[in-house]
Amino acid sequence: VKLPGLPELSLGTVYCIGRNYAEHARELGNAVPEEPVVFLKPQSAVALPGSPIRLPAVSKRVDHETEIVIAIGKSGKNVFAGDALALVAGYAVGIDVTARDLQEAAKKKALPWAVAKGFDTFAPISEFVPADRVAEPFELGVTLEVNGQLRQTGKASGMIFPVDALIAYLSGIFTLAPGDLIFTGTPPGVGPLVAGDRLVARLIEGAGESLALLKTSCIS
Ligand code: MG
Repeated sequence: VKLPGLPELSLGTVYCIGRNYAEHARELGNAVPEEPVVFLKPQSAVALPGSPIRLPAVSKRVDHETEIVIAIGKSGKNVFAGDALALVAGYAVGIDVTARDLQEAAKKKALPWAVAKGFDTFAPISEFVPADRVAEPFELGVTLEVNGQLRQTGKASGMIFPVDALIAYLSGIFTLAPGDLIFTGTPPGVGPLVAGDRLVARLIEGAGESLALLKTSCIS
């Protein structure tokens, strides 16, 4: 699978960061973490532009989490934060679709989130904007409209662990490779999705200029 907008890269590992905005941690009743909360999604969860989100019958509550997504363009291990942005090939907007009821059940039993986060199509992404077209990565933001109503807005400046810190942290554990993705965590405003919902997520810069657009819909 080629990354949309970055055809020289093939999809690698999909890393995700949880609770990276204090306001979102609070809205779900979670403590603000002292180090990044990391989980993974399978490649089969990635939905390319134009593909719908399929809501699994086994969940009664599937939420949207709109996130800035980083595409890694170069291998890296034990990268310093100061060098981290040199690994980035591009930025997109994506949705960390979450079966919230299954996640809550897993949390209560101290079990992993792989099922709640990992269904097919649970990681839709927009086209990637090449990193050299993003002047200020720390001023990126995302918005999400569902059926024309604004549900989420967030700015990278609100992250507890900014993009460079996330790359440094992950590369201290995993060898990052070209084509790997990092979902960087959701700002507040997460909420439920139902079949028929139409979603428009945007990656925005500075005052709100749209850099990338993710249009999708939910099917059962
Ligand atoms: Mg998330």
